[in-house]
Amino acid sequence: MKATEVVEKLKTRFPGEPEYIQAVSQVLGTIEDEYNKHPEFEKANLIERLCIPDRVIEFRVSWVDDKGNVQTNMGYRIQHNNAIGPYKGGIRYHKSVNLSILKFLAFEQTFKNSLTTLPMGGAKGGSDFSPRGKSDAEVMRFCQAFMSELYRHIGPDEDVPAGDIGVGGREVGYMFGMYKKLTHQFQGILTGKGQEFGGSLIRPEATGYGNVYFLENMLKTRGDNLKGKTVLVSGAGNVAQYTIEKLLQLGAKPLTCSDSDGYIYDPDGIDEKKLAYIMELKNVERGRIKEYAEEYPNAVYHEGEKPWFEKADIATPCATQNEINEEAAKALVANGVIAVSEGANMPTVPAAIKVFQDAKILYCPGKASNAGGVAVSGLEMTQNSERLKWSREQVDEKLHAIMNDIHENCVKYGTQPDGYINYVKGANVAGFLKVAKAMMAQGIV
Ligand code: NDP
Repeated sequence: MKATEVVEKLKTRFPGEPEYIQAVSQVLGTIEDEYNKHPEFEKANLIERLCIPDRVIEFRVSWVDDKGNVQTNMGYRIQHNNAIGPYKGGIRYHKSVNLSILKFLAFEQTFKNSLTTLPMGGAKGGSDFSPRGKSDAEVMRFCQAFMSELYRHIGPDEDVPAGDIGVGGREVGYMFGMYKKLTHQFQGILTGKGQEFGGSLIRPEATGYGNVYFLENMLKTRGDNLKGKTVLVSGAGNVAQYTIEKLLQLGAKPLTCSDSDGYIYDPDGIDEKKLAYIMELKNVERGRIKEYAEEYPNAVYHEGEKPWFEKADIATPCATQNEINEEAAKALVANGVIAVSEGANMPTVPAAIKVFQDAKILYCPGKASNAGGVAVSGLEMTQNSERLKWSREQVDEKLHAIMNDIHENCVKYGTQPDGYINYVKGANVAGFLKVAKAMMAQGIV
């Protein structure tokens, strides 16, 4: 079956799942040439089997809020593909979560995990529960209720979840505690765990650091580096915070960050002290980014807007999917942006990607540039299996090496005859080939 036919069939089969169809269409559009070189793939109907998740688990989560009201949310786990290793992928708690979003994320995760060079399949899960505005006790009760169903479907050699939007160290800790109580087992069942109970050093930093290591590699292809570059960052959560930290270490000047209510622009740059303020504000006080402009009056808060219309050298979206539209992409290009590196998953809509590629600027999709998070999750699994803990330096060195390898693979499969590196194609083809070969070897299952 041709790629376009597969997409049409999926549209009919899964109506009302636009993000999933968007992700599948984007990938299939770039791997078609490679796919056509392998008639054996076609015979095994490989593409259709690779696009449809192995398993979709959907459940009700009931919990009691602080006022004694019984609340109901939906819980999901999408086990997309385990051809190259146990299912692996984050859990997202956000009010926007639905089946379509989690299916797109699980599909993307399969390619991303393949790119890391580590043995991990692809999965994603979550709930339409939002931790925003909830007390610690409510978050704990929700996490326990969620795990009281999920525990049946996961295991260290079966499926190993991690964090994502709305799921950080606190939530992972509560879920781990419930898993342990239900199973009587202390296992490496989640990654992103606390340092005291099996967590890997550098895991919190990994996605942001990896994003900047990748960016550095992209700039190097043009004989450039991060020194003195101004950068627009979106988000103010885990990925944004450690992206900013690494940008500062490498001499760049981050100008913005955001949350779902708006963004701040700081013309003086966000320095280490201001970053520490953001971390305290978002991770401890669980406040809003507009408070930054009250603390640092030179900064301006823009309610309900995104940072892409400011002038800078580089943009790195680190909040959520579809946050750069065509208009924003055109503004970035007009303002002279030279590189866009995605910390978030699928933050750029297809028309905007085309704008970047037509302008021949450096543009990398999240499945390559944000793969550092899951890569260190893979390293956490290894440490848990070994019952050992590696030093910060050891983990950071491995993360850096993995990001370099991913970049090299993108260059290998994505370099066009005119020399332009199509990172989208490179990442998709490299990720696809490994999974496809494993699926072929394992027969029709
Ligand atoms: P966090 O929950 O720590 O932070 C998310 C940030 O994005 C918050 O500032 C949040 O604002 C903002 N945000 C969330 N939804 C929206 C929205 N609809 N519109 C505008 N802003 C929004 O999540 P992470 O930093 O972990 O994740 C960010 C992105 O990175 C996601 O796309 C995730 O899938 C991806 N990613 C994360 C990895 C990880 O290791 N954590 C690994 C690889 C990818 P608010 O506080 O208002 O909700």
